[in-house]
Amino acid sequence: MSQEQKFETVIGLEVHAQLLTDSKIFAVSGATSGKTPNSLTDSVTLGLPGCLPVLNRRVVDFAIKLGLATNCSIQKMSTFSRKHYFYPDLPKGYQISQYDLPLCKDGFVEYRLNGELKRVNLTRIHLEEDAGKNIHGESDGISYVDLNRAGVPLVEIVSEPDMRRPEEAGAYLKQLKQILRYTEVCDANMEDGSLRCDANVSVRPIGQTELGVKVEIKNLNSFKFVERAIQHEVERQIAVIESGGTILQETRLFDEQKGTTRSMRSKEEAADYKYFPDPDLPPLIVDSEWIGKIKDSLPELPNEIYNRFINYYKLDAYTVEILTLESFIARFFEQAVAAHNNPQAVSNWITSELFGRLNKEGLSIMDSPVSPENLASLVRMIDEELISGKIAKTVFDEMFESGSSPESVVEKKGLKQLSDPDILDKVISQILEKNPKQLEEYRSGKDKMFGFFVGQVMKETEGRANPVMVNDILKAKLA
Ligand code: ADP
Ligand code: MG
Repeated sequence: MSQEQKFETVIGLEVHAQLLTDSKIFAVSGATSGKTPNSLTDSVTLGLPGCLPVLNRRVVDFAIKLGLATNCSIQKMSTFSRKHYFYPDLPKGYQISQYDLPLCKDGFVEYRLNGELKRVNLTRIHLEEDAGKNIHGESDGISYVDLNRAGVPLVEIVSEPDMRRPEEAGAYLKQLKQILRYTEVCDANMEDGSLRCDANVSVRPIGQTELGVKVEIKNLNSFKFVERAIQHEVERQIAVIESGGTILQETRLFDEQKGTTRSMRSKEEAADYKYFPDPDLPPLIVDSEWIGKIKDSLPELPNEIYNRFINYYKLDAYTVEILTLESFIARFFEQAVAAHNNPQAVSNWITSELFGRLNKEGLSIMDSPVSPENLASLVRMIDEELISGKIAKTVFDEMFESGSSPESVVEKKGLKQLSDPDILDKVISQILEKNPKQLEEYRSGKDKMFGFFVGQVMKETEGRANPVMVNDILKAKLA
């Protein structure tokens, strides 16, 4: 039995997501990124004394939307607290966050892993403000502070310790990203930091009911690193315990280069932050009408669309997984199928040819030169045997280049399938005449010469001859 089989891993994630509002959570400055340092500031963001925060209503809309999409119960009353610590990127000396009374509680997220449906329970989703950024100048040895990000609205999504393997954490996080993007509350880009994840990890001997001491890992900025860091941390903890040591409750940093974690600080307790209710902000009161309005505006969610595609279009799980990855892919697919009802063929064209070309050009499907309607027409022309599957690829390439409809490409390039029996008959007769030696070989029992003749017909017609008809006519002539 390997060491890992004697222990069970327990994982809980704390995920921060930046909300896509125009302005900050308590101030008027813009909440967009990529601007000149310190250009998105104002008296509240700078923490000037006597300047009061005012809660941004859109932030609450977005957080409720996310809470509903993750099956949370929305709290009619929630409050804001001050979490105190000193850091140059936090001018007020405290971060405004929701502490004892968060906006959303007791939700869950369902995700699939290797065909199995799994669930992670959510403890809470609360609102808070982001801090600024310290920039340490490499060349001049000076540290700078950029407060553009200070006061950008965040939700923190806290899970129960429900995951048991690193892959489960990765799959849950991907599902969360999908929900954030479908609901359009966050663009959920780990590389840009609009989605950030801290992983809490512990191990315990199999059979033990109480949880082991947990370690929190910070600085995970890709899905791959989340899984890798957890895996490494599990191995480290087991090695410590096996050699007679104990696990310290601490915060560790993931080192991307080495693939290991190292101690950053011993875990601070809530008391260290001296939380207290923020006297500048009254309790947030949300009534049923407000919640109801947002509920009505919820889009079809990833799992709902997934199930609908499986049941209604009868596509395989893998294909549906790809088609529902983003809402706009699902929309493209449905627009195409509405124009020509062949879900299987349409999905094949999207996931192979179209994605192949889009990836190559670095384009999103939203910028696809081939419209859903034109892709549908292409599939219809194949289904109606106006063009062969092979010619269709040439037509598709031209559609992608020019944005034209398949009809006009076929027309312009004369690519229509040749299904006129008289013309085919003539072409085949000529080919048999021109190749007496091969005809002789065929007649003396060399069956594979049949393929040679088919090939010659295709060459002569530039691939446009209807293959079934060519077969039939050739067979009749050679009989
Ligand atoms: P803290 O008080 O240290 O913030 P919480 O109880 O609030 O701890 O939990 C923070 C996160 O850690 C949650 O996502 C929770 O699921 C997870 N967690 C709590 N205990 C454990 C444990 N023993 N092992 C792994 N994760 C845990
Ligand atoms: Mg906590």
